[in-house]
Amino acid sequence: MKQLPPDTVRLLSSSQVITSVVNVVKELMENSLDAGASSIDIKLENYGLDRIEVRDNGLGIKAADTPVMAVRHFTSKICSHEDLERLETYGFRGEALGSICAVAEVSVITKTKEDDISTHYTLNFTGGIVSQKPSHLGQGTTVSVLKLFKNLPVRRQYYSSTKKCKEEVKKVQDLLTAYAIIKPDLRLTLVHNKVVVWQKAKVADHRSALIATLGPSAVANLLPCHHHQEQPEIVLEGFFPKPGADHSSTSSSNPDKTFIFINNRPVHHKEIMKLLRQHYTAQYPDDSARNRYPTLMLKVTVPPSSVDVNLTPDKTQVLLQDKVEAVLTAVEAFLVSLYRPRGDPPAEKQLI
Ligand code: ADP
Ligand code: MG
Repeated sequence: MKQLPPDTVRLLSSSQVITSVVNVVKELMENSLDAGASSIDIKLENYGLDRIEVRDNGLGIKAADTPVMAVRHFTSKICSHEDLERLETYGFRGEALGSICAVAEVSVITKTKEDDISTHYTLNFTGGIVSQKPSHLGQGTTVSVLKLFKNLPVRRQYYSSTKKCKEEVKKVQDLLTAYAIIKPDLRLTLVHNKVVVWQKAKVADHRSALIATLGPSAVANLLPCHHHQEQPEIVLEGFFPKPGADHSSTSSSNPDKTFIFINNRPVHHKEIMKLLRQHYTAQYPDDSARNRYPTLMLKVTVPPSSVDVNLTPDKTQVLLQDKVEAVLTAVEAFLVSLYRPRGDPPAEKQLI
């Protein structure tokens, strides 16, 4: 038996963290949000395979931190595992930039408030700086990822069909929509091959963000809802289809307009999704809404110590630890009060 060479180990583990174009966009965008950006511009070339560029107006990276910014397991966000209990940032593992360096060519331009000018860094396979030069950008950070998966031919091969590539751009758009809804004051643009394919301006609140992303007609049939419970502390907020509204205007045949957030993270949560669909479709006794997914936004907030975001490398699945039953019970009670079966007396209003 032989030990694998370090470069092979690095490539293997990085390719588990960085799995797709959309996954790179998500990691870079979350870094921008963690840096307090209020404006993020994303550019793709050739569906992201030739170039993914994410530019923000956040805090920038301090010159002293740049030598380790892309070295794996270096992070400015937590110091020890106890900090995970209070986690308020999207990132914490110090893995994304380093992993991207192992599967693509990466450069970073950054400037903090204290810096006179920005600096352009070119990084190598291990995340080290190979060269740096002065640059002309304003405060913030721009990360450019060229030739994604250049050293993973099988993964690159996955994108050889135009259909798959187009699906990937749609996934990027769905991801941006989710962040646009949860962060109303964020300005976001997506450019593909120099054409603006999606954009959202800064708006005042979640409702305006829903209108900006889904359109006024989709939102006309949504009701703002709020439910706060103590012990265990759970806050449910969001916008739900009006009971009894025509389901063609309040649902879709796929889940891309059902937005679930746990502590501000867009997540896929099978059990919550199942409940949402069950209660929504049960309102239509003729079974006509059976295969539909409700258009809605559900924002679940629980103390950070009850959420484990370490379940999957992309953090889109989270464990609610001992709170899962309590959250499901709260969501269910809330849905029952909203979509009570016809003929029942009106439920206590939790709607605002
Ligand atoms: P993590 O986000 O888990 O800390 P990353 O590899 O994604 O790990 O990023 C490493 C570090 O680089 C971050 O902790 C942060 O200090 C810095 N960084 C990365 N991207 C940005 C950005 N857009 N703006 C400011 N700092 C950044
Ligand atoms: Mg990160």
